[in-house]
Amino acid sequence: MKKLNKYTPIDIWDDPYRFTCKEIMEVIGESEAKVLYSSLYKHSPKKKYRTMSLKTVYKDCDTEKYVFELSDGKCIETVFIKRRDGGTACVSTQVGCSVGCIFCESGRNGFVRNLTPSEIVQQVVLLRRKVNRIVFMGMGEPLFNYDNFIKAIHILRDRNGMNFPTDGITVSTVGPVEQLKKLREEHLKIQLTISLHAATQAARNRIIPNMHIYDINDVVNGALSYAERHNRKVVFAYLLLQGINDKPSDVRQLVKWFGGKNVMLNLLEYNPTSNTQIKKPAKQEMAAFKQQLERAGLEVTMRISHGSKIKAACGQLANKYNKIIE
Ligand code: SF4
Repeated sequence: MKKLNKYTPIDIWDDPYRFTCKEIMEVIGESEAKVLYSSLYKHSPKKKYRTMSLKTVYKDCDTEKYVFELSDGKCIETVFIKRRDGGTACVSTQVGCSVGCIFCESGRNGFVRNLTPSEIVQQVVLLRRKVNRIVFMGMGEPLFNYDNFIKAIHILRDRNGMNFPTDGITVSTVGPVEQLKKLREEHLKIQLTISLHAATQAARNRIIPNMHIYDINDVVNGALSYAERHNRKVVFAYLLLQGINDKPSDVRQLVKWFGGKNVMLNLLEYNPTSNTQIKKPAKQEMAAFKQQLERAGLEVTMRISHGSKIKAACGQLANKYNKIIE
């Protein structure tokens, strides 16, 4: 019996960015699908498809910030960070976010909706820039939009289209445990960054309140298990906050978890938002925290933030636009 297609040609012409090339082939045939697919990703398509509208809202020598308006009028942001031979696209996966990190404006306004695979993919395509890294680090928690996030990666990697290399893709997540396990089993060797931000359950509950249902040890072990299975170094991001997660006992716990493991610890400086309850430690205290970890043999980097002048914490810009349009 002939297999019925889930999609029709109208679906394809209406929004082709939601499909892999194989899905399009099943509807319009191999040769036509290949021509269409390559025109979507390799050149500017002649036909006008239903795309998001793009506004450039900030540009300096190294960073460009864009706000995309979606078909329902909601806004998301995408950042392009220039490198010598191209750049990194930092893309969003949700409008708003349910995770509620205390340092983040997206968390403050809550979750609105998941982005579709097409809306995720188009953030990279519509930049019209040479992108050689994609980081899922914009607005939203990618693993809470798991299926659409994975589908978007398959579309971006499709060899008939953008053919983006898997090891150029990074997902940054707070580490919901079941989704981490699922990601471990995917045949996708993407880079994993865990927003850990604490060495105790109590501190993590304070910094990422809506993740309190997950045991911090399970999050760490889930990520270490991913590193082992895919033979990939996992990055743990740790935003240093004075009096909350910068104690000697925190150093000891980090060393206990990560000593001898395929891990890099990325210490981050707090970039002030409207939350006045938290502040960053003094520069010397941050340097001392880093030194103690390094002395114990951990690989550590510390990024000093330049973001405050452009409101670089995820979601801050798009939130401004969402308020305007509400
Ligand atoms: S930092 Fe990321 S995970 Fe946390 S609330 Fe903001 S968007 Fe969500």
